Amino acid sequence: MPVFDSRSFKNHEQVVFCSDEASGLKAIIAVHSTALGPATGGTRFWDYAANHRRSAPIDVAETRGEQDAVYDVLRLSRGMSFKNAMAGLRLGGGKSVIIGNPKELGTPELMRAFGRMINRLGGSYYAAEDVGTSPDMLAAAAETTNFVCGLEGGDFGTGDPSPHTALGVYTGIKAAVKHRLGKDSLNGVTVAVQGLGHVGQYLVDHLRGDGAKIVVTDIVDANIQAVLAKGDAEVVAPDAIHAVDCDVFAPCALGGVLNPKSLGDIKATIVAGASNNQLETEGREDEELRKRGILYAPDYVINAGGIISVESEVYKEKPNAAEREAKVLRIGDTLTKIFNASDKEGRPTGVIANEMAEDIIRRANEAKLAAAAE
Ligand code: NAD
Repeated sequence: MPVFDSRSFKNHEQVVFCSDEASGLKAIIAVHSTALGPATGGTRFWDYAANHRRSAPIDVAETRGEQDAVYDVLRLSRGMSFKNAMAGLRLGGGKSVIIGNPKELGTPELMRAFGRMINRLGGSYYAAEDVGTSPDMLAAAAETTNFVCGLEGGDFGTGDPSPHTALGVYTGIKAAVKHRLGKDSLNGVTVAVQGLGHVGQYLVDHLRGDGAKIVVTDIVDANIQAVLAKGDAEVVAPDAIHAVDCDVFAPCALGGVLNPKSLGDIKATIVAGASNNQLETEGREDEELRKRGILYAPDYVINAGGIISVESEVYKEKPNAAEREAKVLRIGDTLTKIFNASDKEGRPTGVIANEMAEDIIRRANEAKLAAAAE
């Protein structure tokens, strides 16, 4: 299994494989960069082997599952470096994955064992909630390490990041509408929101407050009803949302929504939403969107509100609501810079964002080395 030569491994500082026989823990912690501060990113708890089981003998499925886990953690950890750099945070990028089904394996004992593994990294990695982990599970990990963030309560706890993510996405949509449609407000702008979960519902509130017309979908009816209880919205089927005739398509559910199959259906002039990993392949779909005159807001730039909200917790500072909001609102300016560079250079917004992030990280590394040499 090639690791060092894989595109995702590029420039990782450290990758640690962890196991604990008693609790069944198998985990990987990837530290992509600590140039800007402690590597910070969520812990994903996922049964990577399950997808292969139907078609392969169990041992082969397990091996492939482990490969998937390695590539997932590397890709996500590099993504966190880019996200944190572009948000102007004092945080580097990292990520961790725990391999297995969280419903079967996610005991407090396993999470405490995982906490001990994080602790061994001495603060170079901070864990947070992600797919498959819950506040309770993180609280169990926090019994054995201080290097966990996004916790509820206490002096420094920052709690649910979703409202901040939604505010950032709303700000980013406004910046994209200004850039592409020349409008200062969303009044009369039609936005199609895919996914009405933690982020999607807060986003709809913001959009309504600004007079936008809303089209929504979700696979859970209760989430649609919660949105309809607060105001008007057109509801479409889950498989139709990306093809709605609208100004903005806002993916707030799944990754990979921008792929060769979906691109031809998109009628929006702007794609701007919270989902992580919207592009199936970096540099391919964003280039295709650019050629079609569709403005794409790079996902990790527009959805950084959540990580912005936990920065203070890593530094054991009391959350300062005004400072945090100011940082979230800067997401709009960052996107405008990316949009302008993309127009000027005739290159995709995703590629421009990656280059800007790499540049910030490279300069931080150089400054660190120079300071150490003094
Ligand atoms: P969530 O799980 O609370 O909500 C996702 C919603 O999408 C759910 O209501 C789910 O029913 C719905 N959904 C799932 N599949 C769907 C489909 N095929 N069609 C339509 N709807 C579907 O998640 P969230 O916290 O709201 O996050 C949304 C996205 O934003 C995710 O990709 C997440 O990784 C990303 N994100 C979230 C945060 C945050 O602060 N929560 C931060 C950064 C990025």
